[in-house]
Amino acid sequence: MTPMRYDVLVLGLGGMGSATLYHLAKRGLHVCGIEQFGVGHDRGSSHGAARVIRKAYLEHPDYVPLLHRAYELWEELEQRSGRQLFVKSGLLLAGPPDSTTVQGLNACYREHNLPHRVMSAREAMNEYPRFSLPDDGIAFFDPEGGYLFVEDCVEAHIAQAAKLGADVRLHEEVESWHVEGDEVIVETERGTFSAPKLVITAGPWSSAVLGQFGVRLQVMRKVQLWYDSPNIEQFRGPDFPTWFVESGGEMFYGIPAIGDWGIKVAQHTGGQFVQDPNALDRSLRPEDETPVLEFLSRTFPDLAPRRTHFSVCMYTMSPDEHFILDHHPDHENVVLGCGFSGHGFKFASVVGEILCQLALDGKTRHPIDFLRLRRLLAPAAL
Ligand SMILES: Cc1cc2nc3c(=O)[nH]c(=O)nc-3n(C[C@H](O)[C@H](O)[C@H](O)COP(=O)(O)OP(=O)(O)OC[C@H]3O[C@@H](n4cnc5c(N)ncnc54)[C@H](O)[C@@H]3O)c2cc1C
Repeated sequence: MTPMRYDVLVLGLGGMGSATLYHLAKRGLHVCGIEQFGVGHDRGSSHGAARVIRKAYLEHPDYVPLLHRAYELWEELEQRSGRQLFVKSGLLLAGPPDSTTVQGLNACYREHNLPHRVMSAREAMNEYPRFSLPDDGIAFFDPEGGYLFVEDCVEAHIAQAAKLGADVRLHEEVESWHVEGDEVIVETERGTFSAPKLVITAGPWSSAVLGQFGVRLQVMRKVQLWYDSPNIEQFRGPDFPTWFVESGGEMFYGIPAIGDWGIKVAQHTGGQFVQDPNALDRSLRPEDETPVLEFLSRTFPDLAPRRTHFSVCMYTMSPDEHFILDHHPDHENVVLGCGFSGHGFKFASVVGEILCQLALDGKTRHPIDFLRLRRLLAPAAL
């Protein structure tokens, strides 16, 4: 059978693939995105109503230039789609003086001139009386922080890509791909596709691509929880911000109450490794919730939490917990975006632009040297 031919194929239409498809379609190319589940599905890493977005980048100051562009592109997507995708609620971050959070934020603000405020824990509690923070804590306020409606972002990217002419193939699993001369051949359960370029954005299903080069991606099971309370209105914006708190060496974050689900809370640290993303345990175990409830009773003593929802999701951890954005080591015409290590969604808009540029131009104008694959490859593989 003759393969269906495109300029570029995108494997996986979660957070990163949907954005990549949009940017490729914007460049006027004949593109096709292939997704094994539906749009905005809950089987990968891009679901659960909301994702934190912030410029307060404790993970590494070098992400900040990418964030500036990500913010511009989220705004562009909001305008094109006519949907609200981003709520700039402000973000309160707090932790002990020697914590990873406080050290990381100090490094970020030393390097970048970003709007922010630094407060003692007491000052933060005066301003945000729902919080109870340890007395010796330090707090930061990022006025540009907030949250994104995660499934809506994926849907909007795909809808805009389709409007620009992209083909979107849903509920179709890619079974294999290989390179033949200058073409990449992709086999799905329903057909054969070919293109001079392939972008792989397979999220937790990315491990096999890099394993042969000694780069291990580990998938981690993560649980998101939502709670109502009799006084839930006090935990709704605009007076209650999005937050990120380090306490007892663990990191927790949350989103103000949305609709009747209440507040969203999750533990960023910890989690169990998963061998097979298709065999993820999607039930709620007592050990998932106990630390969250203990944290809530310490940090929000006025909240009387009643669980309304939970959802199980996956982080795909790279060895150094930084993203991998690069060409495939053996195939220049195959581009990889993976290993987003539990902090990637806010970047999806700019990651889409970067992966599009790597595929079409062979290079990107964005400063991504610190995210290149070569940092993780053994010398023999370089
Ligand atoms: C609980 C949780 C909370 C998070 N909180 C935040 C946050 O607050 N802020 C933030 O910035 N980030 C956050 N993240 C991280 C962020 O959500 C992820 O980094 C991001 O969503 C990863 O997107 P992705 O496109 O790589 O993966 P996915 O969205 O999982 O997309 C991969 C896609 O590829 C498809 N696919 C895979 N293999 C195949 C195949 N063979 N054939 C066809 N399709 C295939 C999958 O079905 C999937 O749709 C969080 C993650 C989790 C799990």
